[in-house]
Amino acid sequence: MREIILVKNGELVLKGLNRTSFEDVLIKNMKRHLADLGTFTYTKAQSTIMVAPDDENTDLDDAAERLKKVFGIAALSRAAVCEKNMESIISTTLEYLEDELSLAKTFKVEAKRSDKKFPLKSPEICRELGGIILKNHNHLKVDVHNPEITVTVEVRDNFAFVRGNNIKGAGGMPSGTSGRAAVLISGGIDSPVAAYMMAKRGIELIAVHFASPPYTSELAEMKVMELLKRVAAYSGTITTFVVPFTEIQEAIRDYCPTDYFTLVMRRIMMKISEQIARSQNCQALITGESVGQVASQTIYALGCTDAAANMPVFRPCIGMDKEEIIKISRKIETFETSIQPYEDCCTVFTPKHPKTRPQLADVEAAEAQIPDLDKMIERAVSSVKRVFIR
Ligand code: ATP
Ligand code: MG
Repeated sequence: MREIILVKNGELVLKGLNRTSFEDVLIKNMKRHLADLGTFTYTKAQSTIMVAPDDENTDLDDAAERLKKVFGIAALSRAAVCEKNMESIISTTLEYLEDELSLAKTFKVEAKRSDKKFPLKSPEICRELGGIILKNHNHLKVDVHNPEITVTVEVRDNFAFVRGNNIKGAGGMPSGTSGRAAVLISGGIDSPVAAYMMAKRGIELIAVHFASPPYTSELAEMKVMELLKRVAAYSGTITTFVVPFTEIQEAIRDYCPTDYFTLVMRRIMMKISEQIARSQNCQALITGESVGQVASQTIYALGCTDAAANMPVFRPCIGMDKEEIIKISRKIETFETSIQPYEDCCTVFTPKHPKTRPQLADVEAAEAQIPDLDKMIERAVSSVKRVFIR
C-alpha cells in the first residue's frame, strides 16, 4: 500500500500574498529535516502539502517523527493512496485503519472531492463507507460531534486517499521566515527553552557559548552541544561560536569589586555576543533570563545588562515560572541534559552578596577598572571556535 504524509500549514495561511514564499521555505525546511531518509516529492494543494516518498521502502515512521518537529506545521497525518473508485476506497480504509478502528469506540467519516466528476457526492461517500465500517466493526458507533477517530477520504484528480486522525504539529512559523538571532546558550535549563521558543516564531538561530577552561570542563562544553543538537532537531542547523572567556573572567576577578562580578560578566557577554551576531547578520540576541530568578535577573540588574547591548534582546522566558520553563524543557527533551551537574562559567567566581539593586553608573565604573578590556574582547572574538550543530 502506498503511503504519504499530509502536512497542514499553520499560521502561514494568514500571510496572504506571502503565502507562496512561506510555503516554499517550509518545504525547504522539510527537505532538510528529511534529507538523510531518502528523497520525497512535495505537492502543494490548498493549505495542505503532500509529502510522498520516492521509494516505497522509505521509513515513514521516522519521517513523521521528524516532521512533528518542523515549525510552520499545524498538523500532519499519514494517508494511504488508492484508486479513485469506491471499491478501492473501501478495501483500503478497512485494511489501512484496521487497528485504529478496532481500538476506537466511536467514529465518523468525512469526505472531500476536488474531482467533481466522481460519481458519488461527498455525503454519499460518507454514508456508503460509514455503513461498511459499521458492518465490519460492529462494536463501533457513529458520533458526528466528538468521534474518537475521524476517517477522512479525499478524492483528487488522479487518485484518492484515506486517513485517520491528525497528529499535532510543532506549530509556529517556518525557520528563517522571521530573520536571524544569536542565542546566548549556557548549560542550564532556561536558555535552550528560550532558543526553542524564538525558533518557533520563525527565527533562524546561531548560538554563542562562553567557556572558561580550566574552570569549566570539556564535558560542560559537550553538554551544551548536546542541548543545541536537541534544539536543532526543531530549528535546523545552528552555527555555534564558542568564546574563550578565561582571560576576561580572571580580569574581572582581579580588578572589579566582588559584588559586581556577575553583572560585569553578563554585560561583557552581551558585548561579545553582539559583535558575533552582527558579523553573522543577526538582528537580535536571545537569553534565557526570567525576572527575579537570580540576583543578576532583578529588574535593576536586567536594566544594566540590557544597556550593554545595542540590539534588541529577546527574553522569551522573562515572565515564566521555573515550573513552566521546565515543562517546555521536558517537552523538547533538553531537561535531562540540562540538569547534569557541570560548571558553567557563570558559576565561577560568583560573589556571595551580589547587588540586587545595582545602579548602571556603578556597574560601568566597575567595568572601567579592567585595563585594556576592549583589546581582551577583541582577542576573545578573534579566537572563537566555530561548530556546526545539526
Ligand atoms: P540557564 O538555565 O539558561 O543557564 P540561569 O537561570 O542559570 O539560566 P544565568 O546563569 O544567570 O541564568 O544566565 C542567564 C542567561 O545568560 C542564560 O539564560 C544564558 O542566556 C546566558 N548565559 C549564561 N551563561 C552562559 C554561557 N556560559 N554562555 C553563553 N550564555 C550564557
Ligand atoms: Mg546558567
